[in-house]
Amino acid sequence: MSLMCNNHKNLMTRVLSVPSAKAPFEQTTIERRELRPHDVLIDIKFSGICHSDIHSAHGEWGGGIFPMVPGHEIAGVVAAVGTEVTKFAVGDRVGIGCFVDSCGECEYCLSGEEQYCTKGVIATYNALDYDGNPTYGGYSQKIVVTEGFVVRIPDGLDLDVASPLLCAGITTYSPLKHWNAGPGKKVAIVGMGGLGHLAIQYAHAMGAEVTVLSRSLNKKSEALSFGADHYFATNDPATFTTLAGRFDLILNTVSANLDVDAYLSLLRVDGTLVNVGAPAESDQYNVFSLIMGRRSIAGSLVGGIRETQEMLDFSAQHGIAPKIEVIRADQVDEAYERVLRSDVRYRFVIDVSTL
Ligand code: NAP
Ligand code: ZN
Repeated sequence: MSLMCNNHKNLMTRVLSVPSAKAPFEQTTIERRELRPHDVLIDIKFSGICHSDIHSAHGEWGGGIFPMVPGHEIAGVVAAVGTEVTKFAVGDRVGIGCFVDSCGECEYCLSGEEQYCTKGVIATYNALDYDGNPTYGGYSQKIVVTEGFVVRIPDGLDLDVASPLLCAGITTYSPLKHWNAGPGKKVAIVGMGGLGHLAIQYAHAMGAEVTVLSRSLNKKSEALSFGADHYFATNDPATFTTLAGRFDLILNTVSANLDVDAYLSLLRVDGTLVNVGAPAESDQYNVFSLIMGRRSIAGSLVGGIRETQEMLDFSAQHGIAPKIEVIRADQVDEAYERVLRSDVRYRFVIDVSTL
């Protein structure tokens, strides 16, 4: 059948690969696996650059598998399908996020929260799959993924702006929903980068009163344009006295360690500080910051496949999209430097055709 792809040569793909931690990217070629019955071959069009790619490629989280092909914000078009694929056909516009397999049997997989799979979810890159083969991510022209881990990109979303939603979008949408951001709730978003600028849009669309806490006043006008009701600079100590005891929910999207006690002091009684930012070093806090206000500290990992589809549909319906800068494959090293300097408004997206 013409839709089948059994030709070995078709599965060779150009990639951007890091040979060792912190090394510059190299353009090279790898071979994707031959299609199994439930696999989908995707021609990748755009791949977003998440700060997690940088933590991983720099070996900051430990245990990096090199050479590494990062990228878990993948948008493309189905090029071929396996014999038993039912959800997708050639030509469909699709996305892949942060993981590509899970056991499918544990209580979390069965409830659609594959990211918490007890056997261990298989990350899109920098992981070993259940056969022991390394996974390679989206800085690549092609990828082969089992259909259960592929989502559909709604017509209202262009592929370039859709790509960052596959990680930055779901990572902020999921905890905002889980902790009931909505009418009557005061929500703070800490850090206005790739994740943060989407979090503002989701929290606003869910009906919450949204406050942005960014280091300086530089991003204020854009924060308001994304739907923020209030904006404060955290480099001004007065911010922490003005906002004491104010928030039901604080979503921390910062890639570095924060003064946790200072942020806990901004929560109401029963308020929750949810961390999605994942710095390499451990955070510290004083337990009295929790006790005195029955407050909680929590964390959240991306979101399940079903919720990722819901987030894409919600984004299309509410006109939510990241603000992106599309770059060529030979600009990725420079883009990493710029993300580390917070010199990005607000997500770099690689045009994979330049590979
Ligand atoms: P990003 O675009 O670099 O944004 C991070 C923001 O944090 C910056 O824009 C900046 O905001 C603030 N920031 C940076 N350095 C800081 C410092 N030294 N002190 C205080 N604030 C600082 O990164 P991202 O792609 O949004 O990712 C953010 C974090 O989330 C990363 O650690 C990433 O690994 C993690 N992540 C976690 C998950 C998950 O599932 N939990 C998923 C994806 C990403 P201002 O300029 O506004 O202050
Ligand atoms: Zn990510």
